[in-house]
Amino acid sequence: MNNKFFANELIKWYEYHHRDLPWRSTRNAYYIWLSEIILQQTRIAQGLPYYERFTEAYPTVIDLANAPEQEVIRLWQGLGYYSRARNLHQTAKYIVEELNGAFPTTYAGLLKLKGIGPYTAAAIASFAYDEPVAVVDGNVYRVLSRVFGIDTDITSGEGQRQFANLANELISREQPATYNQAIMEFGAVQCTPSSPDCLLCPVQPHCVAFATGRIHLLPVKVKKTKVRERFFNYFVIVQNGRIAMRQRTDKDVWQKLFDFYLIETEAIVQSIDEFIDNQTINAIFSQTTINPPSRIFTHILTHQRIQAQFWVLEAPPEITLNLPPELAFLTEEEIENVPKPVLVTSYWKEHFF
Ligand code: SF4
Repeated sequence: MNNKFFANELIKWYEYHHRDLPWRSTRNAYYIWLSEIILQQTRIAQGLPYYERFTEAYPTVIDLANAPEQEVIRLWQGLGYYSRARNLHQTAKYIVEELNGAFPTTYAGLLKLKGIGPYTAAAIASFAYDEPVAVVDGNVYRVLSRVFGIDTDITSGEGQRQFANLANELISREQPATYNQAIMEFGAVQCTPSSPDCLLCPVQPHCVAFATGRIHLLPVKVKKTKVRERFFNYFVIVQNGRIAMRQRTDKDVWQKLFDFYLIETEAIVQSIDEFIDNQTINAIFSQTTINPPSRIFTHILTHQRIQAQFWVLEAPPEITLNLPPELAFLTEEEIENVPKPVLVTSYWKEHFF
């Protein structure tokens, strides 16, 4: 199949079948960047309200750069992968402080920004500036592997190079933005992972996977993500109607979000006696009333599965507790307003409302 024919078929299909989404009708690099970062690892239905909230709260990159980091993370709450929100904010500051508020206008320039990889740089460069550089995301891998019958592992370096080269050969030089939108939308709507609509597909007569019965075998993805199992034990220390929390600072999940005093263990803890060797928590135990543990809350991230139990420790009003320095007492209202991991929010809603 000729490259031009493929690109034209996708563009024609796109004109009739695409979904109207707010970031598709703008050439503003800032809005496109926001939408791309929000939609990484996120479904459109989930990301759309966040896009609307961010563009309303921060209509320009200058507004985003000037916002307090905690406010940005709070607005991001619920989307997960919080490093995206921190990178977003830092990059906005960099653009304002170092680039006079102007986005780089080329793929190569965009790639130098923190949090912008090849996919996002290609999306912004093509959608905002019509640079003919191809996007390669999961949808593109699927469409190209099926149409051209390519069974190279898409997680291998060789596969990534092969698909990127092919995608860049196929992109329309006349309409790079529409072509990139079209191939991604085609993968999301027509050539879907488990039930592609082959009967009404404009490229079906040329599709190698269709002709050879390999639709469900492509694309090939060999590597399986290894999931790390983690067990969190949270201690919710309550005194005078306030609760001790800390801001997470370690290089770990949920950096800068707020949670409670935490001890991580190798497995689910069956009895509070298992913390006998931990002097810090034993000192707090000796000053408080220990309530039975909560149910187990589970949170699944791409590479981790976290199971958490919470214990409420109630301290008498008059004593001075021996708390670790990172903990500070917050009122319920303050807790409502600080950014928290979804797992902590779920527990909070179940037990404090
Ligand atoms: S024929 Fe089916 S598998 Fe091939 S591109 Fe069309 S929808 Fe995808």
